[in-house]
Formats: sequence, C-alpha cells, structure tokens
Amino acid sequence: MNAFFTRAQMLHDPLQFMRMGRIAECNDLPSRTEVLLDALASVGVSVHEPADYGLDPLLAVHAPHYLAFLHDAYTRWSAHAQAGPEVLPNVSYYLNARQEDQMRSPCRSTSIVGQAAFYLGDLACPIGPHTYTSALRSAHTALAACDSVLGGNRAAYALCRPSGHHAHSDRAAGFCYVNNAAVAAQHLRGKFSKVATLDVDIHHGDGTQQIFYRRDDVLTISMHADPTEYYPYQTGYADEIGFGEGEGYNLNLPLAHGSGNAEFLAALDQAGQAVTTFGAEVLVLSLGFDAHKQDPLSVLELDTDCFYEVGRRIQALNLPTVIVQEGGYAIDEIGGCLRAFLRGFLPASIR
Ligand SMILES: [Zn+2]
Repeated sequence: MNAFFTRAQMLHDPLQFMRMGRIAECNDLPSRTEVLLDALASVGVSVHEPADYGLDPLLAVHAPHYLAFLHDAYTRWSAHAQAGPEVLPNVSYYLNARQEDQMRSPCRSTSIVGQAAFYLGDLACPIGPHTYTSALRSAHTALAACDSVLGGNRAAYALCRPSGHHAHSDRAAGFCYVNNAAVAAQHLRGKFSKVATLDVDIHHGDGTQQIFYRRDDVLTISMHADPTEYYPYQTGYADEIGFGEGEGYNLNLPLAHGSGNAEFLAALDQAGQAVTTFGAEVLVLSLGFDAHKQDPLSVLELDTDCFYEVGRRIQALNLPTVIVQEGGYAIDEIGGCLRAFLRGFLPASIR
C-alpha cells in the first residue's frame, strides 16, 4: 500500500481558535503529520508526493465563489489597516441548518469582513498566509490516493492535513477548508458507479453529508459522538437520512458520550452492513483518531487497540479503499492509533 503527503501541507499553522469564550491555541499542529509519517515508516508504508491536480477536481464539489474567497482572503484581510494575524469573522451569518436546502448563492457583500462571516462557519478555521496552499495540496494528496486505487492498487492512504470533513460545498468550519473525502469520492465516481464514504472521526462529517445529501450514487455514513452536546451541534442526528433522490443514502450513527470500544465497534458493524447493502464498489474512509480517550477533544473512551479492530473490520468489507486522514489531536497517541489501524488493515505479508 502507498501513502501520499507533501510538506506544503505543514505550512498551514493556525494560531488560535475560540473555545468556550476564550481564544485558545489551535489543536491542529503541523507536528501531527510528523508523528503520522513515523507511524507509516514503522509499518513499511512508503510515502509519495502527490501530483498537482489544479482546481478542477475541487470545483466538482465546491462552489467557485467559495474557492475564490479561500484563495485571496488572507491577502485582502492583511491589506486592512486594523487586520489581526488571521482571517476570523467578527459577525455571524444566519445559516439555515436544514440539510435539504440547496447550495447558497454567492455572498452579496464585497467586504472581506462580510465574506469571512459568510464563508467561515465558526471560529475554528482561521485563514493564515499558507492556508490555501496547504488545503489545496491536502486535497491533491487525497486525489493521488484515489489514482493509486484507480490504477489497480487495493488501498491507499492520504495523510491529509488540514482535515476536510467539516468543509461544506461553500463553507469552511472546524479546522477544515476543502473536503478531501468528498473530492476523493467524486473523483472515484469517474470509474465506480457506487461510492461509499464512512467517517469514523469523533465529530459528525457534516460537510461530507451536505455535499452528497441529495444524491443516491454516494452513500454517506458517519459515526460520531451525539451532537446534542457536542460539535457540530446542528447536524449528525439519526433522522437525517438524505433528501430527494438522496433519501435513504445518508446514515448517521450518533454514540452516547462515554461510549467505549464495544459500542464503537457495534456501530462500525452497522455501518459496514449498510455499505454492503448499498452495493458499494469502492470505499472512502474518513479516518480520525480523536475518539481516543486521551484526545483533548474526546468524549468517548476508545483505546488504541480499538483502531486495530477498526482496521480489521474495514479490511473485511473487501472493497478497494481510499483512506483519508481526518482529526486526532493527542500527539502522544495518534501515531500508535495509525499503527494499530494499519496492523489490522494490512495483510500480514506487507505489514
Ligand atoms: Zn474530529
């Protein structure tokens, strides 16, 4: 199995995000990638530089006016006499959280402050000088993993950073700017008629859900901590099942806070059954490690061994698989989590 990553993804180095009324240091440190690269090396998975795929594959799932905002937001922001170090909104835009709504029209305001409110969904996605470059290359990393699988390899791992699963078609949120898993799923549709996405990050994959909510060719599944008292709060409920042609092709499996390995793996089996019933020809796995009990954001009680079992059960689905890295912020744990996952996932011969 090959992995993909480029150091341009480490340039994005967010300084701050808002947590419970305080400006906090960001959890998405560039050093997360070093730990994950070490884990790949320890199991003998080689890492390759992704090609430059340009913007077209991103435009297949993101609004052009949103990507244009991402591209020049920092430059425009910095030109403001009173600008702080990162683009962060100081006004809030009313967002209807109903999943059945269509994509929004472009922002009417030409002000960078007004557009920041429109395009940045919360205060956990600051835009710095290199954010666009890192987000673009993170998506390219996912695309390179897809092309590895499209070329006949059974699986590939994309060390995506920044993560992607909270990015909507026209909105950044929750440390995410471009939805790498959605870009991957759409790219795979070029060959496969039925694509399943399965998100095991502790947070609901709200962006991935929104992008495919009206479609029956991409099954979206997310298992995550119950959002009633947890980010992203407005979505991730079991009654969100898709809309229109997409009805029946979105599955949310919220887990009670405090759940451990047994509950998580039971939900994973339910998700796997749905993937099989759907008749998926290929799987995009959004792999986060923030459900680990040591993660600073976690409200679940998973241990490292659970990720071995996640890997084993994903392998048992017997599908070509593109693995896309999402969250996981316990620097001392995420390397072990990835190693455990790969030990479960990879055949013994190439472990
Ligand atoms: Zn997460």
